[in-house]
Amino acid sequence: MRILIALAAALMATGATTAQAAAPAALAAPNISVANVQAHLNQFQSIARANGGNRAHGRPGYLASVNWVKSKLDAAGFTTRVQSFTYGGATGYNLIADYPGGDANNVIMLGGHLDSVTAGPGINDNGTGSASILEVALQMKATNFQPTKHVRFGWWGAEELGLRGSTAYVNSLSTTEKSRIKAYLNFDMTGSPNPGYFVYNGADGQPTGSVALQQRLQAGFTSLGVQTELTNVGGRSDHAAFARANIPTGGTFTGAEQTKTSAQAAKWGGTAGQAFDRCYHRSCDTTSNINATALDRNADVIAYALWATAS
Ligand SMILES: [Zn+2]
Repeated sequence: MRILIALAAALMATGATTAQAAAPAALAAPNISVANVQAHLNQFQSIARANGGNRAHGRPGYLASVNWVKSKLDAAGFTTRVQSFTYGGATGYNLIADYPGGDANNVIMLGGHLDSVTAGPGINDNGTGSASILEVALQMKATNFQPTKHVRFGWWGAEELGLRGSTAYVNSLSTTEKSRIKAYLNFDMTGSPNPGYFVYNGADGQPTGSVALQQRLQAGFTSLGVQTELTNVGGRSDHAAFARANIPTGGTFTGAEQTKTSAQAAKWGGTAGQAFDRCYHRSCDTTSNINATALDRNADVIAYALWATAS
């Protein structure tokens, strides 16, 4: 998640709960193990520790993160490729992973940024989204999910410097290739220590089709008994590059530097008057800076939304 430039007024918009029921049994999305997601976070922490304390663009901890995620996906049978780009005098990398099969003219993408800021290891921002979509990808294989649509994952470089990697990826696509991508779901900060449960507002200037993704993510939380609010993440994360290409987008978010209100604390627990993530963009964004319940719920909702969208 990038630095907030203009306070998003739409944060005031309340999504509340939806009336939608839980997933039909036929969807059968797996329950994602939060222990597995946390094991991936431990790996990111170790990579940062071994590489000067961060996983930032142009630093060795970033490429080590790419190589580690790639190794897990390669072992699971994904087709992976590393796309390089240049920003700020340094080479950046995106990792793209395709799950075998599905209709290549109907592509569902999930993504999150893999880079941290230079100040710290970036475990909540965005080890959480990166680790969660990795575990969901591995569970696709483990459960032999055979979606009708083609599923592709992206781990983006240099998000913290202005969405550089995701923008380079979208710009590299032909018009036809862009038109094949029917949805992009973004996960950037999903385990904030004083969590909120935010879903990207699909109606707020987002491409047609985004509201359906919003409602699917809300339905996932509803099935877990968790209330949500809508948020306008605007240009603060990588979905913006896809939205500019008129691809429907959605995502979840547990909050960054902004303060949890009393009403939100009453609804979600945690501490009113305190930031959702007091270690946002700081050296203390470590594996101690995670709310495991929020991480678990978001990972389950990611799987729910993917199974519902790609089946
Ligand atoms: Zn960030």
